[in-house]
Amino acid sequence: MLSIQELKSLLATPQKIVITTHHKPDGDAMGSSLGLYAYLIQKGHHVKVITPTDYPYFLHWLPNNSDVIIYTENREQSEVLVAEASLIFCLDFNTLSRINELGELIRAADAYKIMIDHHLDPEDFDDYRHWSINACAAAQMVYDFIVNELDDSVSLNKDIATCLYTGIMTDSGSFRFPSATSDVYRIGADLIDLGAEHWRIHQLVYDNATENRLRFLGHCLSNKLEILREYNTAIITVNAAELKQYNIATGDTEGIVNYALSVNGIKLAAFIIERSDKVKLSLRSTGDFPANEICNKYFSGGGHRNAAGGVSEKSLEDTIQEFKSILPEYKTQLLS
Ligand code: 5GP
Ligand code: MN
Repeated sequence: MLSIQELKSLLATPQKIVITTHHKPDGDAMGSSLGLYAYLIQKGHHVKVITPTDYPYFLHWLPNNSDVIIYTENREQSEVLVAEASLIFCLDFNTLSRINELGELIRAADAYKIMIDHHLDPEDFDDYRHWSINACAAAQMVYDFIVNELDDSVSLNKDIATCLYTGIMTDSGSFRFPSATSDVYRIGADLIDLGAEHWRIHQLVYDNATENRLRFLGHCLSNKLEILREYNTAIITVNAAELKQYNIATGDTEGIVNYALSVNGIKLAAFIIERSDKVKLSLRSTGDFPANEICNKYFSGGGHRNAAGGVSEKSLEDTIQEFKSILPEYKTQLLS
């Protein structure tokens, strides 16, 4: 284990640093990573962000996005960077299985590993941990790391603020989930004072749909939404042919599950999608309903109580049936 003093003294001289984040990075994964990146390059470190996979086009405008290396497209370069790094920051995930093949590479690496995260049940692979289940976003934890752990709020700048604001905005449902506490609003205000243009960030992330994406959403809502009133549950399912028909790319399906949850009375929403190698589930819930428990117990996944995900090796149809067959177990909670 590293102490904060040891970490601070390491960071006092230029280091070779890798920042990585979870598979199919979302706004918080990229916002926290590029926010920390903007901080560390300002301090003179040699830094690379390596993502396990590609990520949505509506995050490509983030400051320093062009410096990001995608592991699946640059394996050799990524492997050299991981092997040569003295510090590896792991952001917005806490089990190495969330970063695919990069996980075992990082486990084996000599570098000190620093976890900055807000998910339940961290795995013990790290040397330093800045973690809280109460944070609304990993980006909030990065802000807290710079301001309180490193005691370096003077180094925050517009690029850092823009990235961290993006992470907090996307993971808190635009400052609307219960996790968006008054402290989160104060951090948001600070980031705006530092130059984050909140209106522009919102527009770039949320009002940036391609035509096919919007038509695909229409198809999901008109033709694929199934409401199971007896369980206050809504499901949207999508097969591979539909993904092809609408030319769906990474990120195009993001947020669709929230429409299912927005139906009145619905407590649990599932978006079940047939990917090339497996079936992926995205669950959302309201109140105390533990979406992560279902993902953990039945779909080799996890996440937060109100936003969780998992996978199935079964066919799409069998996965849908399995999901439906689980609902009676939760009927009381779903109807309460
Ligand atoms: P999404 O539905 O947006 O893909 O994921 C929502 C949340 O569920 C993520 O922030 C993450 O915490 C969790 N999650 C999604 N997929 C998986 C998975 O396959 N395994 C685990 N452990 N968590 C997941
Ligand atoms: Mn997050």
